[in-house]
Amino acid sequence: MESYEVLLASITGDTGETRTILDPATGTVVGEAPVHTVENLDRAVAAAADAQPGWAALGHEGRSAVLLKAADAVERSAEDLARLLSREQGKPLNGLNARFEVGACVAWLRSTAATVLKPETVVDDGETYAELHYKPIGVVGAIGPWNWPMMITVWQIAPALRMGNAVVVKPSEYTPLSVLALAKVLNQELPEGLLTVVSGGREVGERLAAHPAVGKIMFTGSTATGKAIIKSSADTVKRLTLELGGNDAGIVLPDADPKAIAEGLFWGAFINTGQTCAALKRLYVHEDIYDAVCEELATIAAAAPMGNGLDETSVLGPLQNKQQFDIVNRLVESAKESGARVLLGGNPPKDQPGFFYPTTLVADIDDDNPLVVEEQFGPALPIIRYSTVDEAVAMANGLEVGLGASVWSSDLKAAREVAARIQAGTVWINKHGAVDPRVPFGGAKQSGYGLEFGVEGLKSLGVPQVING
Ligand code: NAD
Repeated sequence: MESYEVLLASITGDTGETRTILDPATGTVVGEAPVHTVENLDRAVAAAADAQPGWAALGHEGRSAVLLKAADAVERSAEDLARLLSREQGKPLNGLNARFEVGACVAWLRSTAATVLKPETVVDDGETYAELHYKPIGVVGAIGPWNWPMMITVWQIAPALRMGNAVVVKPSEYTPLSVLALAKVLNQELPEGLLTVVSGGREVGERLAAHPAVGKIMFTGSTATGKAIIKSSADTVKRLTLELGGNDAGIVLPDADPKAIAEGLFWGAFINTGQTCAALKRLYVHEDIYDAVCEELATIAAAAPMGNGLDETSVLGPLQNKQQFDIVNRLVESAKESGARVLLGGNPPKDQPGFFYPTTLVADIDDDNPLVVEEQFGPALPIIRYSTVDEAVAMANGLEVGLGASVWSSDLKAAREVAARIQAGTVWINKHGAVDPRVPFGGAKQSGYGLEFGVEGLKSLGVPQVING
């Protein structure tokens, strides 16, 4: 028995209904996930409401000390967590994948514990004295996706706990084991009832979003589900942070050095085999250097090994599920039918187990092709040629979503000017998707609202209160 299987056994010993979770690389059984019900959810919310006042009473320093211990616990179990994550989600151990994700959980817990949010004196002019404080909300619900299940759960729960709230987590049906295992480790340090994972289906998510005893929902997932959550949370006027789908554009300016930027472009697009909210999903390249960029990208892409997650040489893995495989396949087929030029990949093997879709680059594609306008969320990058920067900016801004974007250039000033014209929550320069626990992150347009990380992230997990006088 591998040591991660001991951790797995400790979370699947539940009696009651279970769901078999299969490894997306091999189709073999990873484990049995409990199927929790809305009654389980109601009990978890009640336990959270009981645990929350005692936790809030610890104050910022007391809570930060516990979060730091929880980070140490995750670090001690890092390899077991990474191996389980790799088997359930499919992502390789190495590269920007499973070990990286568990490391990010530790980093975010520690950074969140260290972030200070002090009461702010807003006015002090001799006549008026007003201070702005942030108080705990109470019980927070966290609903997450399957692409970065552990890291995104920490993004949601670390600031919630830090601000004195209790949390009930509803993980994706595709990756419940990763989140249950993470919570099992965190709960070595947290008071009982403060953090519970309810591993159920959509009905559990709907109930959490509508629950009268829940004050806020942290949601990361698709724009369609985000809209459903806005509706179900309306009757209780819940606070919401919505990190929704994206279709990030990258603009390569004519002065960029194709060789120097190719690796950054590649990993900006193919991190986690493309299954990343803020990955580069459409690349606009100036006609003067279009062929050179395509060539450099194809060289790097062809050399990146894709395979089973537990194989130490893999840096790209399978799609997590059949539904996502079918989306990528459909979009690449539509690009091929339109006459676009496949530079690499595009032909998934038919006789192999697992949801492997080969690393795919598609050139000479129109901006209105489905592979460009829909979020592919997989290892297939369309590369669009442009003539003027105005045209590139218009195409980048042409969609309803605006999570991230990037500008690539040898001239930082020129790149910043173009960045300011793009409608996205974050615009990176000469990199894409680099998140940092100290830097606020959130979407524009239909990619959502509310900020995560840093001081702004803490504020969004508190109820503002002004003391005036
Ligand atoms: P999804 O919206 O299908 O599911 C996310 C979660 O919502 C799951 O736990 C699901 O069970 C739950 N859910 C489904 N219907 C619900 C309802 N009516 N009420 C409450 N909960 C409900 O998303 P997914 O397919 O797991 O994730 C992929 C999507 O997430 C992509 O669009 C991606 O861009 C986006 N994403 C965004 C970010 C970000 O930070 N902006 C990060 C990761 C993923």
